[in-house]
Amino acid sequence: MSAGLKGIRVAVIGGDERELYLIPELQKQGAYIVGVGFEKASPISGLTLVPSLHDAVGQVDVLLFPMFGTDERGVVKAKYSGSPIVLNKEVLQAIPTRVPLIIGFARPALKSATEKMGIQLVETIYLDELAILNSIPSAEGAIQMAMEATSITIHGSESFVLGLGRTGWSVARMLHGIGAHVTGVARKPQDLARAVEMGLRAVHFSDLEEEIGRAEIIFNTVPHLILDRVMLEKVARDTVIVDLASIPGGTDFEFAQLLGIKAILAPGLPGIVAPKSAGRILAQIYPQLILRHLTTMIANVQS
Ligand code: NAP
Repeated sequence: MSAGLKGIRVAVIGGDERELYLIPELQKQGAYIVGVGFEKASPISGLTLVPSLHDAVGQVDVLLFPMFGTDERGVVKAKYSGSPIVLNKEVLQAIPTRVPLIIGFARPALKSATEKMGIQLVETIYLDELAILNSIPSAEGAIQMAMEATSITIHGSESFVLGLGRTGWSVARMLHGIGAHVTGVARKPQDLARAVEMGLRAVHFSDLEEEIGRAEIIFNTVPHLILDRVMLEKVARDTVIVDLASIPGGTDFEFAQLLGIKAILAPGLPGIVAPKSAGRILAQIYPQLILRHLTTMIANVQS
């Protein structure tokens, strides 16, 4: 058992099942955890519940917000909270500058407010180590959705993966492993070369319009409108689209529906399909992240 977080007070604010697995893991590493928004969850041993976010910010060394962050009004995603938790200006003003604010995804308003107030904002969605590990439950979840939505096996299917980044590679590799005929679609020559090396068909985005008609299942990971009207016109009507890209996805869903193409937007898969694994992934990444940012803060204060 590592005690790397001994003596560090961490506020875990909101979230979903992932946090229920994350909290005990952080406790095992010696952290003292203050929870906000867990009144409706089964009790977690050693967790100190505080009634409001405002109460928490003054008594901890680190603030941990969920992967989903907040909505546009600053309301924190909190599945087990009895009342809304709002990250507003008043709360931000109460955060001591030594306390890093760690969050999955930060909206532009939060970014500019923390910058003005000198609060150290750490956005974890951009961490490669987290995104790559999270791509495992994401890929499994996307394939599970495709299995449920199609009447064919994945094995032998013509499966297209749009975008070969951290998530796309994992989806493509898993599909390949279970016997799909995988087409990897990318724009970088090195990604196309790697796809060939892995035994996939490689298609450049500029050729997608001519190729897309072959697809039986399409997995999109590109966070831009790739499957627009022009592209969807070329897609066979019984094709299933699983769109993993962040909301609003990369598909014109309204037009797909008009055409009778089944298109599913599938955000937040790690927390939905494998919360325990996803919580463990957070527990694997967060301790080092916390220590790194606390050290940076101390160094900044001393200099
Ligand atoms: P990533 O590593 O940045 O990969 C994105 C891929 O999209 C890259 O290969 C990139 O290609 C390509 N791309 C971006 N803009 C493009 C464009 N205009 N035209 C063609 N290709 C383009 O990101 P990621 O971590 O894989 O995540 C991808 C998306 O999935 C994000 O929106 C992320 O939030 C979301 N996500 C969702 C889930 C879920 O549960 N649904 C889980 C994880 C991630 P280049 O390298 O050439 O730019």
